[in-house]
Amino acid sequence: LSPVPSDIDISRAQPPKPIAQLAEEIGLLPEELEAYGRSKAKVQLSVLKRLQQQPNGKYVLVAGITPTPLGEGKSTVTIGLVQALSAHLKLNSFACLRQPSQGPTFGVKGGAAGGGYAQVIPMEEFNLHLTGDIHAITAANNLVAAAVDARILHEATQSDKALYNRLVPSVNGVRHFSAIQLGRLKRLGINKSDPGTLTAEEINAFVRLDLDPAKVTWQRVVDTNDRFLRKITVGQANTEKGLSRQTQFDIAVASEIMAILALTEGLADMKLRLGRMVVGSSRTGQPVTADDLGVTGALAVLMKDAIKPTLMQTLEGTPVFVHAGPFANIAHGNSSVLADQLALKLVGSNGFVVTEAGFGADIGMEKFFNIKCRSSGLKPDVVVLVATIRALKMHGGGPNVTAGVPLPKEYTEENLELVSEGCSNLKKQIQIARLFGVPVVVALNVFKTDTEPEIELVCRLAEVSGASAAVPCHHWSRGGRGAVDLARAVKAAAAQQSDFHFLYSLQDPIVEKIRTIAQKVYGADDIELSSESQAKIDYYTQQGFDTLPICMAKTHLSLSHMPEKKGVPTGFILPIRDVRASIGAGFIYPLVGTMSTMPGLPTRPCFYDIDLDPVTEEISGLF
Ligand code: ADP
Repeated sequence: LSPVPSDIDISRAQPPKPIAQLAEEIGLLPEELEAYGRSKAKVQLSVLKRLQQQPNGKYVLVAGITPTPLGEGKSTVTIGLVQALSAHLKLNSFACLRQPSQGPTFGVKGGAAGGGYAQVIPMEEFNLHLTGDIHAITAANNLVAAAVDARILHEATQSDKALYNRLVPSVNGVRHFSAIQLGRLKRLGINKSDPGTLTAEEINAFVRLDLDPAKVTWQRVVDTNDRFLRKITVGQANTEKGLSRQTQFDIAVASEIMAILALTEGLADMKLRLGRMVVGSSRTGQPVTADDLGVTGALAVLMKDAIKPTLMQTLEGTPVFVHAGPFANIAHGNSSVLADQLALKLVGSNGFVVTEAGFGADIGMEKFFNIKCRSSGLKPDVVVLVATIRALKMHGGGPNVTAGVPLPKEYTEENLELVSEGCSNLKKQIQIARLFGVPVVVALNVFKTDTEPEIELVCRLAEVSGASAAVPCHHWSRGGRGAVDLARAVKAAAAQQSDFHFLYSLQDPIVEKIRTIAQKVYGADDIELSSESQAKIDYYTQQGFDTLPICMAKTHLSLSHMPEKKGVPTGFILPIRDVRASIGAGFIYPLVGTMSTMPGLPTRPCFYDIDLDPVTEEISGLF
């Protein structure tokens, strides 16, 4: 239709097929499906075992150039591409997407189910509670937080003996250690055939985690943009008097448990990662973990359903996995390894799995390769790099683009000069993808104000910059048939030999790994470490965490650390303000500038437009 109706109107006009029917079409057995209503279902991980002999399909990553604050259409391209591959080229294909946080859905940015005629349906279910994974993460995360503060209180108010008697109750004179407590004894090097005979010194070491309240790094989370929780004081009641401390809430998707969900390979691996999560350090500087708190088994119980990807469908009835959505600021911003693995088996050797990385390619794609693929062992075949004329004009010197404000005329009228100048960013992002040895197809996401000469110019410059192909895409206004050229180009690129390799070795020192990313990917001359960063790097190295990959926390609005610098900034030194670690998820994350882990609400948030018709139960206002 022209003009293209609103996302929610398009979504509602296409009733989804029953999820059991879709599951049967893609080769799932009825017992492998756990339906949540009629249009979504969790898929059991046992499918991986059943199909272990099946060769994987082709693995396609959708990444983007440095975006405007509006987003350039990575989700819509991902969905449009699978619609074209499945419904039009008749190739099995699967899209793997991140589950969006409710923060932006009710805040500024809106949902993430795609848009126009390239959407996951029902979009309201996709954008809201889905199958409760984010709630499970919130529950698990906050159980750890409660365990941390309760433990500090109990240790502060009880003797070693009282703690020991409560932690390890004695029944008829026999101490009952739980499995996780036996694990702690082992980590402390206390190997007794009868652990009931601990010396006073051993009891002291066992019962006292000695968490330093000033060095607790674990935060509480909630999935709402609630800026007043950015700094809070806990422990104000009389019962906790004397132990109040300052802490903060993060948005739920910034929880390390979300990053673990995205990287894990199964229940056993998830338990190991959950147990390794560091919640803070002791007064003597030793890391204290979830295992030390004894909470790992309970966390696994809370997460046992969240670990299964959720099956949904596109507007054209092709399959989609929605699973995990780690905050791209401080985590790796990619959907789950498990969803990709399942999808690669389900599509078979001639099929395609299209997965999306958040932010620009310098961040999302670099982390997809160096963190996600390293963890999963999967090798990507093609990178689809999404570009828009509006973002290229911004890189070419166009005025600022602001969400919620109409675009200036430079963006609505033809301007070949700005486009040509801005292609520098596209060229650099193509080169970054080529550093990893993977063929690149540029998907130019066409908006209705783009002109033929502008489109032709971008495609020509992309091809001379090292892309295997560059094609205009009209999936937003036409659905899958608008992305058939892209699907053909991706199929051709996937037939080429991919020479995939990582950018750095895990054995390189932390500083070298950071420098490699800064210089080779961002184009920095060098890096500059604050004294705090250097001290943290020394500490992590001494603790043996130095062989983890690096997850840079940098703005996505520029290749550099300065959001206002567009195009390809040069001649800058990348400042590393602080360095932190997600030991359970398995990465070190250097902070380049200040990163907010709790967004705020604007004066007029999206929720003003969101409503429910009490008679029809229809939701309006989501986008
Ligand atoms: P990203 O995943 O890169 O953040 P999205 O795919 O979510 O971007 O798209 C950002 C927004 O722009 C969405 O609201 C989407 O519907 C809209 N959009 C994307 N492509 C087009 C297009 N070609 N024309 C008009 N709107 C578009």
